Amino acid sequence: MKVTDIMKKKMSFSFEVFPPKMDKPIEPLFETLEHLYKFNPDFVTCTYGAGGTNVGRNLEICKAIHDSGKTISLTHFTCIGNTKESISEQLQTYLDNGIEHILAMRGDLPAGWEGTRGDFGYANELVEFIRDNFPKFTIAVAGYPEKHVQANSYAEDIAHLKVKIDAGASFIMTQLCHDVDKYSRWVERIRKANINLPLVVGIMPVFSKDATIRMAVSNGSSIPGDLAEVIGRWGNNPEDFKRAGMDYTINQIYRYIDAGIDGLHIYALNKWKDVTELMNRSGIRVAAE
Ligand code: FAD
Repeated sequence: MKVTDIMKKKMSFSFEVFPPKMDKPIEPLFETLEHLYKFNPDFVTCTYGAGGTNVGRNLEICKAIHDSGKTISLTHFTCIGNTKESISEQLQTYLDNGIEHILAMRGDLPAGWEGTRGDFGYANELVEFIRDNFPKFTIAVAGYPEKHVQANSYAEDIAHLKVKIDAGASFIMTQLCHDVDKYSRWVERIRKANINLPLVVGIMPVFSKDATIRMAVSNGSSIPGDLAEVIGRWGNNPEDFKRAGMDYTINQIYRYIDAGIDGLHIYALNKWKDVTELMNRSGIRVAAE
């Protein structure tokens, strides 16, 4: 089954996890996954080593997701430090392990790097390479409702998005965007640019003050007034903050659904207890016993 076929019938529902650091045990993540499966996600994604780290663990986790038989496994993948040869090797290994969905990205450039230090400088080149050499993959690309942090303008960023879509992508997964109105304006812009692929919207749950601010700032995402209010009012008390943050996140999920999306993707942050509470309270999905 392909994620794109699911989205033809209904809004897809998915989670994202990340690999633990090499010196940390992997079992807690496997436990997290077991809890996330209870919500019957259509697919679960695993991030691919920011700055080229933890790459091996990405495969181990993607394989575990696939082998669970409970959902579709989608791997993130980047150009950072990757030659064509190493990309081919890794992509073949994913396919050999039953992983046929990929989010193809350039990746964030590590501090001090001017380029990817690999054979591809931008995501569109990677997408084209996958399409031509590994056609079994269903390819997603990243989209930025508040434009990519390095792009000079929306027009420029959307033109680049169009190029990577025309290279062979089948759907778009969005960067965190707390401002649903900005998302809606971006959707209008990309549709005008003749970008008509399904949109899987990433929701970053608001669980802790510092992480919320850090992630928004590093991605160049804005903090709208109602979120600023949560931070200002509850920021000094982690428990109150988490409660108010969950309310905020649930409201945001419903606003996105109202805005019209093809998929709802929860950045689970490897926190199954908080995510379980969020899901149960939202009523979006009920955990199976
Ligand atoms: P591109 O599409 O290549 O764009 C990068 C920048 O270059 C943009 O500013 C764009 O406008 C510009 N550009 C694009 N094409 C060209 C061109 N041909 N010429 C000139 N300029 C161009 N990072 C990780 O390291 N690991 C992950 O697992 C990961 N998961 C992510 C998941 C999601 C849902 C999202 C939205 C992002 C994720 N990222 C991850 C972050 C992502 O790698 C960064 O945002 C990265 O900086 C850009 O990747 P991209 O594929 O969007 O790049």
